[in-house]
Amino acid sequence: MSKLEWPTLFGMRERKDALAAYRDRVIYMLAIVGMLVMLPIAVKNFVQGQIALGVGDAAGILVLAVDALAIRFRRRPPIPFALILIPAILGVALTLRWQGFSGVLWSYPLVLLFHFVLSRRVANAYCMLLLIGTGGAVYHLIGLDATVRYCVTLLLTVILINLALNIVDDLHRRLIAQTTVDPLTGAYNRRHMESCLAYAIERSRQTAAPASLLLIDIDHFKRINDQHGHATGDAVLRELVAVVNGHARAGDLLFRTGGEEFLLLLPQTHEDEAVRMAEALRVAVAGEFCTRAAPVTVSIGVSELQRDETMDAWLKHADDALYLAKELGRNRVVHRAGRQPRMPEGARQD
Ligand code: GH3
Ligand code: MG
Ligand code: MG
Repeated sequence: MSKLEWPTLFGMRERKDALAAYRDRVIYMLAIVGMLVMLPIAVKNFVQGQIALGVGDAAGILVLAVDALAIRFRRRPPIPFALILIPAILGVALTLRWQGFSGVLWSYPLVLLFHFVLSRRVANAYCMLLLIGTGGAVYHLIGLDATVRYCVTLLLTVILINLALNIVDDLHRRLIAQTTVDPLTGAYNRRHMESCLAYAIERSRQTAAPASLLLIDIDHFKRINDQHGHATGDAVLRELVAVVNGHARAGDLLFRTGGEEFLLLLPQTHEDEAVRMAEALRVAVAGEFCTRAAPVTVSIGVSELQRDETMDAWLKHADDALYLAKELGRNRVVHRAGRQPRMPEGARQD
């Protein structure tokens, strides 16, 4: 099965990299400020007859304007900022020549800038490039003592920003987990389910790939609570999630949709395969829990996504099948099979 990139509330890119969601905003601001700073310099160069410099400035302004406009209209910037920043490294090296040792002061904000506008790996590669390029220039122009002091302080700055970003990434991951995962069972929550189902429908529309879902409801759960207490009920919910996860394949996604109701989304799966999985799950749950004080069974409604079907209709068919499973006596699987919910062949009929 191909690996799917399921949506998160922040999108996949943002999930891996906490700053990604803010990167375009920072680049946009920097591009605007860069243009405002370069404009008078370009005019001055043209007025003073330094045409080559003026053309260089104008080209720089154009590049920034193109990227800023793209971001403004929510497109990917056509000219990567990684390219735009190479001249900045050269600039620090040149400043050293003009301003002496104090020119290296520009390196420190540049290290921060790299980490704001580039992905972490590229930013660190640029920091090393800056260290080697400008360190070499310091050694050449000033001497060994200054080079050692410069390299050690710059390296320390790079290490500290990486430590700070590790903490930000960790907090970001925890925030995403809190907004997508049900704290009691560890299954995904209903809110996350809606974005994943919408994604599965869109994907199926584009690629004609099948997708099915199992709506799993614990039978007479209220009785378990009443007879054995709420804490046992909670433990049963967690154990059920463990059993379902044990049956799920890589790529299947489990959501807690309500109190004792769960939805297992099966991408790339036709209804017959989904019914087989549901039946195996039903048998496993009945076997798994029957030795406990509280016997637990589940009823399961199965529904494959039909062409041009909406999320509500898909869920409704699974719900109808589940309802019928309850009506027929519980502890059974019913699938939708087109329009009418049906018992799978060979399934228990009592
Ligand atoms: P059916 O077989 O028709 O599904 O009956 P049921 O008793 O399972 O369904 P019903 O909807 O009547 O009861 C569901 C119960 O689930 C009621 C509610 O107190 C309990 N419940 C909901 N959330 C939780 C929870 O987080 N923990 C515990 N222990 N119980 C919960
Ligand atoms: Mg129930
Ligand atoms: Mg229920």
